[in-house]
Amino acid sequence: MKTGNEYRESLRKLNPVIYFMGRKIEDVVEDPATKPHVNAVAQVYDLAFDPAHEDLFITTSHLTNRKIHRFTHIHQSQDDLVNKVRCLRAAGQKTGTCFQRCAGWDALHSMYLMTYEIDKHYQTDYHKRFRKYLEYVQDEDLTVAAGVTDPKGDRSLAASKQADPDLYMRVIKRQDDGIVVRGAKAHQTGAVNAHEILVMPTAALKSGEEDYAVAFAIPIDSKGITQIFGRQTNDMRKEENSFDAGNTKFGVVGGESLIIFDDVFVPWERVFMLGECDMTGYGIEIFACTHRQNYGGCKTGVMDVLIGATSLLTTYQGTKKASHIREKIIEMVLLNETLYGSSLAGGLTSSPTESGAYVVNRLLANITKQNVTRNLYEICRLAHDIAGGILATLPSEKDLNDPRYGHLIEKYMKSVDHYPANDRMKILRLIEAMTGGTALVEAMHGAGSPQAQRVIMQRYAELDAKENLAKKILDIE
Ligand code: SF4
Ligand code: FE
Repeated sequence: MKTGNEYRESLRKLNPVIYFMGRKIEDVVEDPATKPHVNAVAQVYDLAFDPAHEDLFITTSHLTNRKIHRFTHIHQSQDDLVNKVRCLRAAGQKTGTCFQRCAGWDALHSMYLMTYEIDKHYQTDYHKRFRKYLEYVQDEDLTVAAGVTDPKGDRSLAASKQADPDLYMRVIKRQDDGIVVRGAKAHQTGAVNAHEILVMPTAALKSGEEDYAVAFAIPIDSKGITQIFGRQTNDMRKEENSFDAGNTKFGVVGGESLIIFDDVFVPWERVFMLGECDMTGYGIEIFACTHRQNYGGCKTGVMDVLIGATSLLTTYQGTKKASHIREKIIEMVLLNETLYGSSLAGGLTSSPTESGAYVVNRLLANITKQNVTRNLYEICRLAHDIAGGILATLPSEKDLNDPRYGHLIEKYMKSVDHYPANDRMKILRLIEAMTGGTALVEAMHGAGSPQAQRVIMQRYAELDAKENLAKKILDIE
């Protein structure tokens, strides 16, 4: 297993093509735009070496029996799917942000299940190929980006009916040694600082759309891949190297990129699906549900930091003892722990599949994610309420440090006398960053928009069985 620093070193050996604001990012480890996101993933690596967390973060590979980082493990039991959530919460608490690596973890898990099912139906050998790839990922302790979401063009049209055929990832050439793909993947969390990208179809496809039913994995610096790193709210504050950025160490949300595949070659041993349209629905549903369960783990850890920051601020501002403030803090805790409970329950009631891997309770996973889109907004609203208007009008760190008038900011930004204004301002900046703009939108749309969760909730709600319960009690035939 790699330490955080070994992870950083391994990134330095790659040469991904990344652009941001009209310039090329040459070194993701040090560039101010990407450095905090690298730090967040490095923290996930380091947790496996932390005596307080190693039991959770290290597990045994079912393929090789070797010790591996849990973030490359395929869930083999209900315990595994509970421990996943516990890991995510711990990592959220340590970083206060999205630590990215779990998206690829979920892609590995769903690809494991999907290749097994495809082989069963079509007598192909994708699963064998994928197990070999997985072994490589586990042994090298790699971070894999989950290349799932296509740009999708006109949402009212299917993949094959788009005016521009590249709006969904597709195969443009089949060769003796492999395939050539073209298209793009959007919102790619952690891809600028990943080693590999694992691509799968973004939606269920119909017969006739075989060229779009393609899954594969390649190094992130493969020829023909270009990434455009996305903007985030207040992202230029990262360049200022000041506490105004909020979470200067780890960033306020994971870094996302638009990845363009401009005729990229994939060797056959890295192709895990090609043309099996009827299996795409299964694959994307497993990925979506696996990833949605996470949100009651990572977000609750992140919200622990926010609740802590808000509570700390009340100490600094002298409002801690007000009964309505205490009530609101407890409300934040209630909303947060409710998410954690349903996420854990999704793991506790997960079920085995023929492949040996476990699948999360799909109804609970989607309910967890749907509640994140509500509870997180409410937690953030309460943080704004408690913090006060200063959250929106605070002077910058640069002004605080100005030799001419900085002392006046220090004087007037002080609240309870013995707490320095500098620390109060830092806390306010962290709350500002965690509760606004990009961070909040990610809670809404990350792992799929709310309506996508309701579609799966409808599928697994078992309304007929519930009707029968009522009928039985009422003796209705
Ligand atoms: Fe992982 Fe959560 Fe970030 Fe998704 S939002 S990649 S589950 S930390
Ligand atoms: Fe996310």
